[in-house]
Amino acid sequence: MTATEPGTAVLDNYVAGRWTPAGGADLLDVTNPANGDVLARVPLSGAADLDAAVRAAREALPRWRAVSVPNRARVLFALREGLESRKEDLARSVTLEMGKTIADARAEVARMIEMVECACAIPTTMQGRILEDVARNVDCETIRQPVGVCAAIVPFNFPAMVPFWFLPFAIGCGNTFILKPSEQVPLTQQIAFEVLDGLDLPAGVVNLVNGGREVVEGILDHPGIDAVSFVGSAPVAKLVYERAAQAGKRVQALGGAKNHMVVMPDAVIDQTVKGIIGSAFGAAGQRCMAGSVVVTVGEAHDRLLPALRDATQALAVGAGMDDGVEVGPVVSPGARDRIREWIDRGVQDGGTLVVDGRAPDADPGGSYVGPTILDDVTSEMAIAREEVFGPVLTIVRAATLDDAIAVVNGSRFGNGASIFTESGAAVRRFRHEVEAGMIGVNIGVAAPVAFFPFSGWKDSFLGDLHAHGPDAVEFFTRKKTVTSRWFSEQSSGRYFVE
Ligand code: NAD
Repeated sequence: MTATEPGTAVLDNYVAGRWTPAGGADLLDVTNPANGDVLARVPLSGAADLDAAVRAAREALPRWRAVSVPNRARVLFALREGLESRKEDLARSVTLEMGKTIADARAEVARMIEMVECACAIPTTMQGRILEDVARNVDCETIRQPVGVCAAIVPFNFPAMVPFWFLPFAIGCGNTFILKPSEQVPLTQQIAFEVLDGLDLPAGVVNLVNGGREVVEGILDHPGIDAVSFVGSAPVAKLVYERAAQAGKRVQALGGAKNHMVVMPDAVIDQTVKGIIGSAFGAAGQRCMAGSVVVTVGEAHDRLLPALRDATQALAVGAGMDDGVEVGPVVSPGARDRIREWIDRGVQDGGTLVVDGRAPDADPGGSYVGPTILDDVTSEMAIAREEVFGPVLTIVRAATLDDAIAVVNGSRFGNGASIFTESGAAVRRFRHEVEAGMIGVNIGVAAPVAFFPFSGWKDSFLGDLHAHGPDAVEFFTRKKTVTSRWFSEQSSGRYFVE
């Protein structure tokens, strides 16, 4: 069953080139967060389901690796065209199961496709290096080869894009691949795998295993899996990183975040407000690059706050599919209740509610929290330190840029940080001193395009090779270094073209 026919049907896994039911698994409802409707039921697959996928991926490995690199790139071109032809289905599926607005979902799908476009360059990006004459008549070269069977475990907030931070690069480099989507949003990848199913890929090159914790733990321990990519919350990222490393696997684990936006007194206020609103309330704050703490420097506070409050109050909350809606629901009733509790706690701890989104005027069957602003927050308060992952913006005041940078660097997270100013000198200081891996200058969501790495730091990232960009080829290949010399006389040589 696929996402194009919502209902209570049970989703299949995709293993060895076939849609396959999970054997005897428990089922979980997949719901539409805009109204609580059940869209489908996802199996929580077990060890045997994962093992079947690992065996298929291992079997496919020699055959897929033997496909020439340009032909692997051609499969990626076809994947790009296939996704392009289904992009509206993909976007609607994202909105249906995750809740973000349809405009935001379309932007996510465009980013998903951009990942494939970036991976199409694999015949260039996978090249090795050679140095002639490292000694007399001795050459040394490094070539790149696939790592083997690679698996990715992904979160709910980007059902289309985040799996594609890994899949096209992994298979482009000659690996085979197993995806474990978020059990909260498994529908969009059903469409992506329909597209993959229509390509000229050997069976077992790509596999989809639905499920939750049991599949994740199986991936971390399975001796047939060589590399693990994880994206999700910080505690699970740590668990994944440690357990996969203990099993001797290559691992990259992208975790949670708490991103700061520093506003200088000379910021262009109307543009700054737009940037902050998009960052804090886009996707209802459920982005790992969402700005959730504004740090105002000096008089920036009083210049910013009235315009920020008015623009926030004007945001339309509702179902992501509806015209004019700017803030959709959060992913589940559990997430809604947790976010409301965070707002209560922020008030108890001394924050002042400037905009209160705890009871928005929206479908009571849906999981809604309206955009919320808390002023008078200090950087010691839990709400300024912990990830809320909802449409909640806190405002912390700083006297100087130094103080603001100290607030940013006091966080245990280091995904993104932005500065709003017209001062080049302030930007240079900020860029140089801030302990976060992705920096925005007058940009609210500084998420890099596919061609650059998604380079979080500190508790936001465990590992050394990041997702997409040049790091993806590093992660999905092993280097082999060959030192050679030849004793016979050089002949005239004959050249063969494949
Ligand atoms: P999550 O950690 O709950 O789930 C992520 C994945 O881990 C899912 O596939 C889930 O099935 C699995 N999982 C959950 N709990 C587990 C457990 N105890 N043991 C083993 N596996 C488990 O995250 P989420 O709520 O789906 O996503 C939101 C989080 O992801 C936020 O913290 C957000 O910041 C983070 N995120 C980070 C990035 C980044 O690039 N750093 C990008 C997107 C999302």
